[in-house]
Amino acid sequence: MIINRDSNLNKLGLTFVETDQGFTTKEAITEAGRCLNCSKPLCRTGCPIDNDIPAFIQALAKGNMGEAREIIAERSNLPAVCGRVCPHEKQCEGHCVLTKKQQGIKIGKLERFIADFDAEMNLLKPKVFTKSKGRVAVIGSGPAGLTVAGDLAKQGFTVVVYEAENEPGGVLLYGIPQFRLPKEVVRQETERIAQLGVKFITNCLVGADVTIDRLFEEGFDAIFIGSGTALPKDLNLPGRDLMGIIQATYILRTITLYNQGKIDRKEVPICPGDEVLIIGGGNVSMDAARTLLRLGAGKVSVTFRKTVNELTALQSEYEDAVAEGVKFHWQCTPVSFVGTEGRLTGLEVETPTGRTVLPAHKVLLAIGSRPAARIISTTKGIDVNEAGYVITKKVPYGMTSRKGVFAGGDVVHQPATVVLAMKEAKKVAKGMAAYVEAKKLLEVC
Ligand code: FAD
Repeated sequence: MIINRDSNLNKLGLTFVETDQGFTTKEAITEAGRCLNCSKPLCRTGCPIDNDIPAFIQALAKGNMGEAREIIAERSNLPAVCGRVCPHEKQCEGHCVLTKKQQGIKIGKLERFIADFDAEMNLLKPKVFTKSKGRVAVIGSGPAGLTVAGDLAKQGFTVVVYEAENEPGGVLLYGIPQFRLPKEVVRQETERIAQLGVKFITNCLVGADVTIDRLFEEGFDAIFIGSGTALPKDLNLPGRDLMGIIQATYILRTITLYNQGKIDRKEVPICPGDEVLIIGGGNVSMDAARTLLRLGAGKVSVTFRKTVNELTALQSEYEDAVAEGVKFHWQCTPVSFVGTEGRLTGLEVETPTGRTVLPAHKVLLAIGSRPAARIISTTKGIDVNEAGYVITKKVPYGMTSRKGVFAGGDVVHQPATVVLAMKEAKKVAKGMAAYVEAKKLLEVC
């Protein structure tokens, strides 16, 4: 049973409903009409996956939604996601010539508009691709796995995705909160990829339920590892064993499950009125802070070692967090966790003016993550670096030290962004296609 708790207003007036409502059709066409259609489109240079931005904007400006959607589909399998969570201000929009005059085209919102319009009107008819090129297994269904799956299915490969969670989507589903990226949007995008003929096997943890060796025995020609960075980093300071210190990604996941009605409120370890401190300055920290305000936490603050200009979170996320009431402590380096009778009561921090204790009922850790070793430890011959990231080659692009096994996304390049995971995955998909083609040729010789 899915219980929809999204629209429950809390005392601050915040809900889990998406905060940015997107463009209406009229607004989208008007915005697209402002595009100068530059002869050297810098917006496209700024897009890591080389989306043909001017072409889809021109199609949209003429009201040709289907054409706009087809143009986007040539480069991206996840436009409704990218339209919402990409750092546009640093990428396409940041490069738009009109941005210098503070009038940059809202490219992200236009991409989102077209993808959402398509989801409603079903503009993009699924094409049937003959599956004759070979068989590929994809481990993990985050942006990297979904990109490899979509790109190879379009080229005529039979693709099976193995996902440990009970639904595809990776961080898009269990990390980024509903009010920034509605779960339905992620489901619509994965459904589109399934319509290309990709098969999803969920609740399957590779390394436990099946191994890479077993997948090769089943006849896969190549395997892609896109398992992300599932292990959150810890902060082993004095007092770490006090009760009340929790990983932020764990909280985000449990709140998603609670909002879906899959777990009870008491399984989310934040009580109404709790004063919460979050350590870290990335998107995970901002997402956790804003989520906790929606859940009814009393006071939510973020502590960061550096200054506001050095935050790694999206600028828009930081601004939204401030507007919603999240407080920030800059240049605070955690020194120890403080508590009584086994329970946390605060965090001692070093500041430019000396040491102080910030009171808190709970402290969330949002200081990064690294790859889990489950796949590597159950498979021979895949080299990783000291931190556990998979090492890959340039030729064929993305292949690991084990023949036929490829990797991409955060498990190779460290936690980055959705679009950078997609960018790498697109290159790895090409490497895999070339590898399988060569393998098949050698088989017939
Ligand atoms: P993931 O998305 O981590 O996907 C890996 C998948 O592999 C998961 O589904 C996992 O369950 C599965 N898996 C792992 N091990 C196994 C196994 N052994 N067997 C089977 N399946 C397995 N980026 C942005 O661009 N914009 C943002 O606003 C943004 N916000 C973020 C907010 C949060 C809270 C977090 C955590 C990240 C955010 N990011 C954001 C970063 C972005 O989400 C990641 O860079 C991106 O998801 C990485 O994609 P991936 O496919 O490599 O890995």
